[in-house]
Amino acid sequence: MKKIIIILSSIIVIIFIILMIFLFNTDSKDKDIDNIKEKKPTENIPLEEDNKFSKLSYYKKENLDRYKAYQDNNKDLSIEDIVTRVNLNLDKEFYTDTIPATNLNTNYLFVNKFNYLDSNYIPNNLELLDNSYAKSGIYLVKEAKDNIEKLISDAKNDGMNIRVISAYRSYTYQENLYNNYVKSDGVEMADTYSARAGYSEHQTGLVVDVTRAFDDFNNFENTNEYNWMLENAHNYGFILRYPKNKEKITTYSFEAWHYRYVGIELAQKIKASSLTFDEYYARYLESDNN
Ligand SMILES: [Zn+2]
Repeated sequence: MKKIIIILSSIIVIIFIILMIFLFNTDSKDKDIDNIKEKKPTENIPLEEDNKFSKLSYYKKENLDRYKAYQDNNKDLSIEDIVTRVNLNLDKEFYTDTIPATNLNTNYLFVNKFNYLDSNYIPNNLELLDNSYAKSGIYLVKEAKDNIEKLISDAKNDGMNIRVISAYRSYTYQENLYNNYVKSDGVEMADTYSARAGYSEHQTGLVVDVTRAFDDFNNFENTNEYNWMLENAHNYGFILRYPKNKEKITTYSFEAWHYRYVGIELAQKIKASSLTFDEYYARYLESDNN
């Protein structure tokens, strides 16, 4: 009997020990899991902060601090808009840290208040526009000219009377134009509607200013011709370059009359995207071409 009691109590003790070992193990495992859970967020914050911007194809590592600062000041903007606008240097003063425009003599040529053309840049293949539809003595790059002729002729068939009043402008011409605006309105005002020499898109030879024939261009917004342009210009390779409510991005006031030639395929893509040329360039063209 005594033997049996000893054996039984030994078994109980062994079971108890096994039970304790098991309990201790699961307890320490849970503690490990808790530790991992506790550590995870603090360890990963900088990484998540990075990824928020860096998932975008047009993210630039060197701009990270500027993205963060821009976001602090523009909390309502999407991550896409923040990266796009900082890449366009819109967090900087106009005409600071400017760079020479690349993609010269292509439809991708991008000129604004941060990307300039050299004083002796004259586009290739400039051709005189016919004064049956344009002011006399003005020029465009051939491809743009062929397409504006087609556009004006098709518009005429729809009862529209569109006339080109300005096209290519040389550096010197723009210099005089801008200086005259500054004389009458001052620098600050002139900068909202006129480009400084070298920064005018007209120097690309890919731009037209249009009106309803012989009407004031300031009235173009109120014409059927303007609505026709909004609906059709992209099918001839032209886009409205400075749209309404995009002043902060394009850095120019709305210009109903100013159209930029970018080629038919690209114009259709830009139109479909509802982005300005600036935004489209920063997101899809800049990295492809540089
Ligand atoms: Zn213009």
